[in-house]
Amino acid sequence: MAPARVRFAPSPTGRLHIGTARTALFNWLYARHQGGAFILRVEDTDRERSTNEHELDILADLQWLGLDWDEGPDIGGPYGPYRQSERLEAGSYSQAFERLGQVGALYECYCSPEELEAERQAARDSKQMPKYSGRCRQLTTEERQVFRDAGRRPSLRFAVPAARVIRFDDLIRGKMEFGTDVIGDFIVARADGMPTYNLAAVVDDAGMAITHVIRGEDHLTNTARQALIFEALGLELPAFAHLSMILGPDKTKLSKRHGAAAVSDYCRQGYLSQALLNNLALLSWSAPDATEVMDADEIVRAFSLARVSKSPPIFDGEKLRWFNAQHLRRLDLADLANLTFLQLPPEWSQAISQVGGMERWQRIVAAIRTNLEQLTDVRTYAKIFFELDYDMATRERLATSVSTEIRHAAAAALADRDVLTLDQAKAFVAQVKDEMSAAGHRPKEIFQTLRLALTGQLSGPEVYFLPYALGPAECRVRLSSIDGD
Ligand code: GLU
Repeated sequence: MAPARVRFAPSPTGRLHIGTARTALFNWLYARHQGGAFILRVEDTDRERSTNEHELDILADLQWLGLDWDEGPDIGGPYGPYRQSERLEAGSYSQAFERLGQVGALYECYCSPEELEAERQAARDSKQMPKYSGRCRQLTTEERQVFRDAGRRPSLRFAVPAARVIRFDDLIRGKMEFGTDVIGDFIVARADGMPTYNLAAVVDDAGMAITHVIRGEDHLTNTARQALIFEALGLELPAFAHLSMILGPDKTKLSKRHGAAAVSDYCRQGYLSQALLNNLALLSWSAPDATEVMDADEIVRAFSLARVSKSPPIFDGEKLRWFNAQHLRRLDLADLANLTFLQLPPEWSQAISQVGGMERWQRIVAAIRTNLEQLTDVRTYAKIFFELDYDMATRERLATSVSTEIRHAAAAALADRDVLTLDQAKAFVAQVKDEMSAAGHRPKEIFQTLRLALTGQLSGPEVYFLPYALGPAECRVRLSSIDGD
């Protein structure tokens, strides 16, 4: 069997949202698992709403997610061009119109937008499914001429055969059937000669030798229409797989209301691409062994359409945070430090650049990494290493004779130290604890004093991380900073 060829066909009319990104991902996973090709096709026949910026954004978001394509508008390929506007110019669609005309599957429709809207309204008023009446099907040559003389330009409609059942096997939903009686004759070319989505998609899927069309279930009725076009053109139908719509936690269709954002927003909010990819992959699909946290390679290896469920999946921001935390933990420290460094406020990154550099930042990240769920969380958890602010109660506590004794002992233990390894930092804490226990102080008092003096907070990373990440010099300053009060 020839290797699979699948495509992701975004319209560059907006940003890449979660639902569309998941469609792209499932196509990519299928291609990579099969050793097939993943093709990117830009469907920009809607000239008014399509923009170059949106196309660039979509491509950048796919790249960020790690979904690389084998053929596409930017890299070309043997079936190019990969933008429908360019295919139109190259004449890709005119042959199809000619052929459809020859087999009697097309007719000119002169209905004005107002007439069509009146028809739809009448259907709604009588609680019927709006469906084009087909009234231009029977126009005589003379009647058409009258419309043309009146300045009307026709669109082209596909003449849907009556009383037929369209059948196809959906790889996710099983046997599908659509009676043609509910499908009105649909437009395949607008009055300005532009092909519509259904026509262009068929011509391009056939022309690009697409073997599997994987897309959202909102396209199911389009698939029925497209199957008719494939048939009329004498082309072989590809396999189809329709993914269920994604729901929000309240089980309604996922939308902005749920805080669902574009892929680039998640990037900006400090999510890792591998966490978002992992989460998206588990929207309808699950691994045979039910593993949840996986990187892209693991998912590619385990992926199959057979394990894609037709029940609608739920996208939940909480779950995404959880995936993100898991993937943050999988990163090695240097990578995590590099990624989180980009999230720091300028004062902090400057401070790091001036003293200690990435080596110092890595120490801080080591101290807080288990707290992080988003990259942006470093702004919360790293604060204690850049700013020290004691409230009144803390000052009073640190000023007691017991605390003062502990602070001074700790500062003395760090007297000639320059940098500490993690083991040395642990040894330092143990030393202060032993000395101060011998002096009659309780361990809790000792640790709390150290933590409070070094951070101004009662909770935070393990105490030994504080001298490790702050460094002895800064610790000495903090341990004695209230003495001058
Ligand atoms: N351009 C269409 C969309 O964005 C593509 C649908 C399809 O995959 O055929 O919905």
